[in-house]
Amino acid sequence: MIEYESLGLSNQAFMTDLEAAASRVIRSGWYVLGQEVSAFESEFAQYIGAKHCIGVANGLDALILSIEALDLPKNSDILVASNTYIATILAIVRAGHQPVLVEPELETFNMDPAQLAGAMTAKTRAICVTHLFGKSCRMDAIGAFAQAHGLKVVEDCAQSHGAKLAGQMTGTFGDAGCFSFYPTKNLGALGDAGAVVTNDDALADRLRHTRNYGSKQKYVNEYLGVNSRLDEMQAALLRVKLRHLDAMTAHKRSLAEIYFEHLPQGFTLPRRREDEYDVFHIFGIRHEKRDELRSWLLNKGIKTEIHYPIAPHRQKAMQGILSGEYPVADSLHASELSLPISVGHTSDDIARISEAAVQFDLAH
Ligand SMILES: *Cc1c(COP(=O)(O)O)cnc(C)c1O
Repeated sequence: MIEYESLGLSNQAFMTDLEAAASRVIRSGWYVLGQEVSAFESEFAQYIGAKHCIGVANGLDALILSIEALDLPKNSDILVASNTYIATILAIVRAGHQPVLVEPELETFNMDPAQLAGAMTAKTRAICVTHLFGKSCRMDAIGAFAQAHGLKVVEDCAQSHGAKLAGQMTGTFGDAGCFSFYPTKNLGALGDAGAVVTNDDALADRLRHTRNYGSKQKYVNEYLGVNSRLDEMQAALLRVKLRHLDAMTAHKRSLAEIYFEHLPQGFTLPRRREDEYDVFHIFGIRHEKRDELRSWLLNKGIKTEIHYPIAPHRQKAMQGILSGEYPVADSLHASELSLPISVGHTSDDIARISEAAVQFDLAH
């Protein structure tokens, strides 16, 4: 059986260093917001090439706190892709604003810059982009649009650690870059964790307060904060894995090359451009007979996933919040299939999957 992902296997490679880091934290006697968090924040900021990094409890909080910190008028319209993971949309709602859906490009799954103008309203104040599956959005076009209309930009980088456009890291294009270190992400903790990166001193200062009850100095509260602190254990484990992030990304990219070379005709592969450095959080293909293909692969002992089975505007929780028709999102949700591409997979695994795909193609 080829699993879609096996986290135990992925983390095994770093076992000695992870155990040493965990032991160091246990012995330190200090468990939340301490030296490990500060060290991880400066190492991650340096990795991304941002001035500040603020560790928080998870990716959703990174988004909510960043959007809140923009201080937009209550109930502003915020543009967001119609096929993003639900967290991006939830964050906009939780921060007190109205998500306005923008259709993605079929070929990349990412927000289509050409659709932005049509989605603008008098209340639009920001764009929340998601670099889905580890591919940067076209921040050249989106950034230019945001600038022309005076919009803030928040980047959901939960799937794009290390992804670049024209050599620039995702997370550094907008006002804030929001990361999740959920265990399955390209840089994954061994529990929940998240962070915001920014070059904006005031925004960073505000987030350092709001993640911790609105207080930077103990028992002095300047803002209405929340408890969204990063703990020392996750920060110490993330420091170990950050040192290997480029190697993990290189491995995933080499697995992707095998798919690009061997997957047959009926498989629509993600469009790639010269200036895009993809990190393949997910290897999402499109296929007309997606469900049949998925069962076929499972019969051959290959597990796959669907990202995502239900479009945001069709979720029960979003009734009364999202309205309208989103045919591109619908089409993506009906045809997407995620093939295994984790650090725990070998080139042989991917060759076997590609071979099964070729057999499916011949039989259908
Ligand atoms: C995982 C994810 C999030 C949320 O991160 P959590 O750490 O689970 O809160 C947000 N946006 C996207 C696109 C994600 O993939």
